[in-house]
Amino acid sequence: MQNFPGVGVSPGRIIGTIRQMPKPISEPPAGEQLAPDTTAEEATAALKAASQAVHDELKERAAHAVGDGKAVLEATALMAKDTMLIKGAAKLVARGTSAERAIWESGSSVSEMLHNLGGYMAERATDVLDVRARIVAELRGVPAPGIPASSTPFVLVAEDLAPADTATLDPNKVLALVTAGGGPQSHTAIIARSLGLPAVVAAVGVDELPDGTEVYVDGAAGLITAEPDESLRATAEAWAATASLLAEFTGTGTTADGHEVPLLANVGGGKDAEAAAKLGAQGVGLFRTEFCFLERDTEPSVEEQAAAYKSVFDAFPGKKVVLRTLDAGADKPLPFLTDSTEPNPALGVRGYRTDFTTPGVLDRQLEAIALAQQQSEADVWVMAPMISTAEEASRFASMCADAGIKTPGVMVEVPSAALTAESILREVAFASLGTNDLTQYAMAADRQLGPLANLNTPWQPAVLRLVGLTVEGSRAEGHNKPVGVCGEAAADPALAVVLTGLGVSTLSMTARSLAAVAAVLKTVTLSDAQELAKLALSAPSATEARAWVREKLPVLEELGL
Ligand code: PEP
Ligand code: MG
Repeated sequence: MQNFPGVGVSPGRIIGTIRQMPKPISEPPAGEQLAPDTTAEEATAALKAASQAVHDELKERAAHAVGDGKAVLEATALMAKDTMLIKGAAKLVARGTSAERAIWESGSSVSEMLHNLGGYMAERATDVLDVRARIVAELRGVPAPGIPASSTPFVLVAEDLAPADTATLDPNKVLALVTAGGGPQSHTAIIARSLGLPAVVAAVGVDELPDGTEVYVDGAAGLITAEPDESLRATAEAWAATASLLAEFTGTGTTADGHEVPLLANVGGGKDAEAAAKLGAQGVGLFRTEFCFLERDTEPSVEEQAAAYKSVFDAFPGKKVVLRTLDAGADKPLPFLTDSTEPNPALGVRGYRTDFTTPGVLDRQLEAIALAQQQSEADVWVMAPMISTAEEASRFASMCADAGIKTPGVMVEVPSAALTAESILREVAFASLGTNDLTQYAMAADRQLGPLANLNTPWQPAVLRLVGLTVEGSRAEGHNKPVGVCGEAAADPALAVVLTGLGVSTLSMTARSLAAVAAVLKTVTLSDAQELAKLALSAPSATEARAWVREKLPVLEELGL
């Protein structure tokens, strides 16, 4: 047995064989020529054969897919044999360019042309780039990029996953997610929790294991063991039995003494919202609207946006739905809002700040939200991401008022907002703590970087203090405004208890975590939670804060959390 310690980000203990996510395809060098022993005819024939092979492979996958996935795969398969793409490449080959470089350049031209056509055609621009990478992989004889296709379930091992990878991730085929990089707040962690898959990030060395290696994954302890023994097999079997006990949540979030902490869901669109409603969420605490448009090169129309928002509102009639305006930037670029050449995207023009450089998009989004709200029965609250000052909060509130939105709020995810919560909350109706970014900015540690995972945890006493200060600010004389948490911290059952003790009013998380958080919350009274919050705040380190609190919550071990 060989152990690979990492950081556990989504609980679960399973055994499975691994499949490595292929490395991204590198660009063939500019000016690369045909090899001396290859003729242009041979290179063109190889190119055509590669394009046919990519077409056939995608067509085969489409035959086994359903719904949106099937349509996407079919369209991409056709693109692999696109006449303009292949002819453009063949012309370059005839002039002596290598087949790999030729298809790369031809892909760039076709993609740019589609992009310039705008609308539906512009949406296909990224498909061309995907197909181009697949053809290069075929020519090089290396695995195609993207999540590997497999007929049997496997443990997916990757350097890290991007939000766009979720589109091709089949939760019925993936048993667990393991990454060599990525931090606890990375999108791999968010994706894993939303799919209810056990996951470990920052497990150095796992990306060297060969495909087919059998591993044990413990997503709570943060451990991967290659070639597991019988006792680990028994542990995984025992966990499968406990997991079914936690499968459902149908009540309300309450402490043992009846203090209510509504448990809400984080969603990225209508399908997520319907699933969250089925899992018993009491409403939506974070609707990440940018997730509806991650594939878009152009701004969606007001009507298109309104339809996407309404599909979430309709899943929760009469219930609270907190919608967040587009949070484009850093790990979630949207080409129509963000500048991909910024040197420091996390500190750049992202979230609410895109209104500084691309005015109008936010106004039109608010118009779409108001339109969807009129046609639905949800209690719609709207918040802006990345607010740093009271002045920004005030301006956002007046933009909402102009659009006819009655409950404006802000995300508190920049330390300056936590430190000035009192004046910020004078301007708006509520705040929601985005602990993922709040941790990244408080600790100056990029949330996507594996080597910084130990800094990048909301158990850091500095982060817990910022949460406490925000709650204090919300209760300052003259107002008493609700402050929820919608970062990943809320999905950690032990941390959920601490946050409750710090005084947050709601907890929003991926719907799959609701049952575990509810089960742990109901074992403590509000005053127990307050004591645990004090204990965590007094700890000298994040590791001790977590260990001290977990030690006082034996239910965690009982439930394998
Ligand atoms: C956060 O930063 O905690 C948050 C909820 O927003 P996101 O993860 O989408 O940046
Ligand atoms: Mg954020």
